[in-house]
Amino acid sequence: MPQLSSPLRSLLRALLPCSCVLCGATGDEPVCPACTLAYARDVHARCPCCANPVGVHDTGRHCGACLADAPAFDATVAACDYAVPVDRLVLQLKFGARLALAPWMARRLREAVLARADLPLPDLLCPVPLGPRRLVERGYNQALELARPLSSGLRIRLAPRLLLRQLDTAAQSGVAPGERRSNVRGAFALADGQALEGMHVGVVDDVMTSGHTLDEIAGVLKKAGAARVTNFVFARTPPH
Ligand SMILES: [Zn+2]
Ligand SMILES: [Zn+2]
Repeated sequence: MPQLSSPLRSLLRALLPCSCVLCGATGDEPVCPACTLAYARDVHARCPCCANPVGVHDTGRHCGACLADAPAFDATVAACDYAVPVDRLVLQLKFGARLALAPWMARRLREAVLARADLPLPDLLCPVPLGPRRLVERGYNQALELARPLSSGLRIRLAPRLLLRQLDTAAQSGVAPGERRSNVRGAFALADGQALEGMHVGVVDDVMTSGHTLDEIAGVLKKAGAARVTNFVFARTPPH
């Protein structure tokens, strides 16, 4: 219901019970408490930098990939793995316009943030931008839909137009793994007049796969003076 004002949306939600996207149970959340507990709970120790799973004895330590070739970002928080059946939720948000999933995902992400007591919180949050053509096709940016409730849940300022996507690149999911870095090179720029000197910037996206998009964005932010960049992603694709 992207075109409805938010009071109208709240009224409709109160009048029309919603059913769980995963099991169909009726309730007032897009995913019922039982499915949330079963599927959207994080079960891994993760690399604090890239959020890939690490062995339980390596909790808090950077993974081998980040040690060998440090990305431009400093930290990543992921709420869960991008795996069956959670992938359906992401696809429903992205391609099925189930925008009610975004606040639910933001709550899972907020819980993951609060579980990392040592994690410094950013000064502002910005979504990974969509290219203008894709934004027109879809009508909304799922990363912004996720960033908005995360920003209010964590009380961090939202900067929805901090970044611009200056190239309509091919979707990373459709590009061979070896070509994903070059596919996003030069794709992002900072909006005019933004000063980031010494700031800690949070970047929000629905899914992190290879991490090249977020690495490219962190590079742009650091070049503009950002001191630290933390990624906030609902789901992390496990390495093959
Ligand atoms: Zn359910
Ligand atoms: Zn790592």
